[in-house]
Amino acid sequence: MEYNQRKHDLSSRNLITVTATVDGAAEAVGPGMLSPAMGKIPESWDLEADVVIIGSGGAGMPAAVKAADEGASVIVVETNYDIGGHAIISGGNTPLGGGTSAQRKYGIEDSPDLVFRDLTDWSIVQPNGWPDYRYNDRAVMRAFADHCASTYEFLVANGADFKDIPPDNQGGHNLGNSAPRENHAVWTKGAGLESPNNRGGTGLIRPLENSARTKGVKFLLNYKMKSLVRQGQTTGRVIGITAQYTPRIMPGQTAPLKSFRSDGNIDSTKPTMNIRARKAVVIATGGTTSNLNFRRMFDPRLTAMLTVAGEPYSYQDASGELAATAIGASLWGLANQTLENGDNIRTQRVLATKWNYMTWEPEFPLFPLVRATGLALKDWHNLILVNQVGKRFYDETKGDYPHGNVYNDINPYTPNDYRNNEKIDYHPSKYNFFNAAVAMNEHSEPPDYSAGPVWAIFDADAVARNKWNVTPPYVDPDGYFFSANTLPELAAAIKNEYQAKPMKGETLRATVERYNSFVDAGEDSDFGKPKPKYKIQTPPFYAAWATPNVHDTRSGLRINAKCQVMDLNAQAIPGLYCAGESAGGFNQHGLGRCTTQGYIAGKNAAAEKAEG
Ligand SMILES: Cc1cc2nc3c(=O)[nH]c(=O)nc-3n(C[C@H](O)[C@H](O)[C@H](O)COP(=O)(O)OP(=O)(O)OC[C@H]3O[C@@H](n4cnc5c(N)ncnc54)[C@H](O)[C@@H]3O)c2cc1C
Repeated sequence: MEYNQRKHDLSSRNLITVTATVDGAAEAVGPGMLSPAMGKIPESWDLEADVVIIGSGGAGMPAAVKAADEGASVIVVETNYDIGGHAIISGGNTPLGGGTSAQRKYGIEDSPDLVFRDLTDWSIVQPNGWPDYRYNDRAVMRAFADHCASTYEFLVANGADFKDIPPDNQGGHNLGNSAPRENHAVWTKGAGLESPNNRGGTGLIRPLENSARTKGVKFLLNYKMKSLVRQGQTTGRVIGITAQYTPRIMPGQTAPLKSFRSDGNIDSTKPTMNIRARKAVVIATGGTTSNLNFRRMFDPRLTAMLTVAGEPYSYQDASGELAATAIGASLWGLANQTLENGDNIRTQRVLATKWNYMTWEPEFPLFPLVRATGLALKDWHNLILVNQVGKRFYDETKGDYPHGNVYNDINPYTPNDYRNNEKIDYHPSKYNFFNAAVAMNEHSEPPDYSAGPVWAIFDADAVARNKWNVTPPYVDPDGYFFSANTLPELAAAIKNEYQAKPMKGETLRATVERYNSFVDAGEDSDFGKPKPKYKIQTPPFYAAWATPNVHDTRSGLRINAKCQVMDLNAQAIPGLYCAGESAGGFNQHGLGRCTTQGYIAGKNAAAEKAEG
């Protein structure tokens, strides 16, 4: 059974429930569970280490390696069957500057001061929203700027495979205007490092895993941190965690999925493990976007129908934030998430599968959940997008996001000049795709008045033009792809858990007829799509899931410059660190902040005095 976020609400009935399902741990691994209160101090511990790191992704892996380098014994607790989180399936574009060896090699001048100035420049605010830098925490920024270059060298020293090309501004969104800082990790098929999805992030994360295992780091896979154990409810040190067994079993299988490497894994199937941290716990759980209730605290637009980039490999289920706030931690920089925009919420380019941020190949171990690779789209002229009512709402060719925050985007750039944003190539209506897609419509109903899905409507000619194969496993006919010989039949066929009511056939037919008239006229008089190219006229007709997607978590636990988690009185909670997307106060996309904070947290956690 697939996980359905609608089942979960904030009622106490749902606190700490973990229900076994057919795909077993998919639900336990997945989103929606709310935190228990503080974990009780157990009578005995099952495991112990100096540093316990929760999560093995972009922040957790560097934290583990760095803590081991500093002489600490380390256990990484990971709810998934394998390491890596979003980082291992990411593009591997890694924004790190400040004077790296790669920058020096290619004659690029940069410094920690320049990184700091760039990332705290309040003037890089795009008109009408997306203030990437404005809400950054100065102390957290300074720590990032000071550790950015050393993190790059550390990653390279631990095997990260970056392309030997000049750092550039490609793939980055928030790197600052003064120097190119984007590095590109590469992964090669058949080179001995298994990748869930054949992407560059594997070339960053698997080598770190190799290094961690070589350095003696232990991995407790298939265990989910459920609570933090602190000496008092909101006082004293954090001395450990409780974790619950969360094996992932695919439909039709009895054995849990296995990790790529097993040496160094702690072998256990015990339902609950109490794990003591003699020095510190590092939360590197990746953020909150997979948790419907949590994400809607910041932005009520983020209703249930939206999927999250990175699911179903791993989930950003807010478990770190919930466990930490239960023992007194503060959240920070919440405006960043409310203003989630641009590169966080996108028009998707893979159709006909729920997991539409990228293509998952059939050999992906979780493919039984994904069910379809999807149809890759290059030209938005091949289709129209309609809402659950069957009406167009947008110029389909729009939806990409403007930049303004990478090297040379603002040119000339004058630091701290309020006119900088006048030079950003900004088109307000591009941003409005998401608002248009999630806007209430005639079928938006209680409980959350969700906008319902967005459907791509196209015909047999579009299939031929794109050379699409519209049979499984390329499409998912179980709720995410439909076909019929007439448009009214197509509308009637659309059945999906987020489609509140059937689409009316007459509405869809009228929408398509009107669009076809725009093709004849050479002008879209409703939404201004430039010169609509193709009529939708040749049966069979198709409807494919094209609902937007949430990408990053941009706010989370309050940390200080050492990555210690802070309480509501701005005091560091002894023995508790946080890094990556679960940490607040740093509005930067991706691997730069996560790896750097992992490095900082690992270093400082290892330097704590061991208790007991
Ligand atoms: C498809 C995709 C492409 C991307 N491409 C890029 C890119 O090219 N460049 C870039 O800069 N950024 C990119 N990103 C973003 C980047 O991957 C993330 O910002 C980064 O991986 C976040 O690191 P993290 O450690 O905070 O979280 P993650 O890497 O997601 O790791 C968190 C880990 O914690 C585990 N976990 C969560 N809760 C618990 C718990 N309670 N107990 C135990 N374990 C738990 C999760 O299973 C996961 O393994 C991409 C993201 C995605 C999804």
